[in-house]
Amino acid sequence: MKVKTRFAPSPTGNLHIGSIRTALYSWLFARRYNGIFVLRIEDTDIYRSKSLSVDSIFKGLRWLGLNWDEGPYFQTQRLERYKEVIEIMLKEGKAYKCFCSEKEIEESRLKQIYKGEKPRYNRTCRNLSIKRNIDNKKYVIRFKNPTSGIVTFKDKIRGDITFNNSELDDLIIQRSNGIPTYNFCVVIDDLDMDITHVIRGEDHINNTPRQINILKSLKAKIPIYSHVSMILNENGKKFSKRDNAQNIIDYYKNGFLPEALINYIVRLGWSYGNQEIFNLLELKRLFNLDSISRSSSTFNIKKLLWLNKYYINNLSLNYVTNILKGYMEHDNINIKNGPNLECLLKLYKSRHNTLKEIANSCKCFYEEFQYLNKNYIKKYLILKNFSILKSFYNKIKNLSSWKIEILLKIIKNQSIESNALLKEINMLLRFILTGSICSPNISSIIFFLGKEKTLLRLKKAIFFINKINKEKIN
Ligand code: GLU
Repeated sequence: MKVKTRFAPSPTGNLHIGSIRTALYSWLFARRYNGIFVLRIEDTDIYRSKSLSVDSIFKGLRWLGLNWDEGPYFQTQRLERYKEVIEIMLKEGKAYKCFCSEKEIEESRLKQIYKGEKPRYNRTCRNLSIKRNIDNKKYVIRFKNPTSGIVTFKDKIRGDITFNNSELDDLIIQRSNGIPTYNFCVVIDDLDMDITHVIRGEDHINNTPRQINILKSLKAKIPIYSHVSMILNENGKKFSKRDNAQNIIDYYKNGFLPEALINYIVRLGWSYGNQEIFNLLELKRLFNLDSISRSSSTFNIKKLLWLNKYYINNLSLNYVTNILKGYMEHDNINIKNGPNLECLLKLYKSRHNTLKEIANSCKCFYEEFQYLNKNYIKKYLILKNFSILKSFYNKIKNLSSWKIEILLKIIKNQSIESNALLKEINMLLRFILTGSICSPNISSIIFFLGKEKTLLRLKKAIFFINKINKEKIN
């Protein structure tokens, strides 16, 4: 039997961490067993489905490298097929038209609640004669769920799960607008697409017995189900947009590497001993459904940042540089205008958690900046530093050889000559050369900035101090 899994998102919102985890587990499971991974867009909720969400699904999966072997199928393109099955089910007495109005259903529901019963459709139309069915009233189509017995399935993560049929409703499989419902389409798709393993969120557990009953009525093979537990935020509440549950592509925008995200997401529920770092090759070899935890997992942004930093520092420099280039281009930074980006990455990679932060730090090597922080302006661009900067300017100007060791030496000399702490000189230069007070060692900064830009920035600071001072005197 060829393993076949599917990712079946409804395009009604953003593709977030929870959905991606389902996709990743389904994808890995298919890859592990040389199976097939299907992408199916469940868009029958025509009022809530958006093409923007479909795009975000494609973009997110592609960014993470979760390629699909079949699809994308769109349920709205399979309506004829669903109709065909519903016709057969009606003919064979496995489904029936229900003419009850919303008002009637609501009244019966209230009565049931009043009597302390579990509210469900009272099956008024289940045994209607065919003749009554012909009138022109609006109707939905319901599945004739067995009224007694049990439905059991062996969940790969949770073990045996059993439901009493008496607890299940006669499910609506086609709405009054003629569009079939989620639970029905899923069943027909899983059947037609030969899906062997269904991996999805635990919020679908209650749908599973209904889907199994429909499959049984069609004498179809039942797939193996795995329901993955919820993801919680650090306060133990359902992980939501406020807790970084944003669109997966926002992680790209915020400077995360796909390798870090994959590694992080796979560990949100799956484990292999105490191992924390997994590359894709390893995951394809090791991933299994039995090691997925039954308990919920907690989203921890610090761990994701830690992993991202790990991958920035451990993936090939060339690969990470190419991705970093994308962030620079996005901000219209012309990297031909300055040092080799790979050298800068080497310099900065151990200092930041994300590529966006690295890109921000690297910008000053390629374009000029304004002094923005008033406190630092007041602290560094002062008369006391005027002569230091002038003297340093001349030292740089007269340099004939451009080497880090030499730069280091002249910075030290400057500190002795100016009777200032080396630390103070470093901070002053850091601020005027990069616009920030955090950076790697200043000799490397000057080295990569180059003579021309360094002189220009020193000059700019000297002018600035001069101007401010003149304004003060006048
Ligand atoms: N379309 C469903 C959802 O987005 C998934 C259905 C399934 O995996 O069976 O929640």
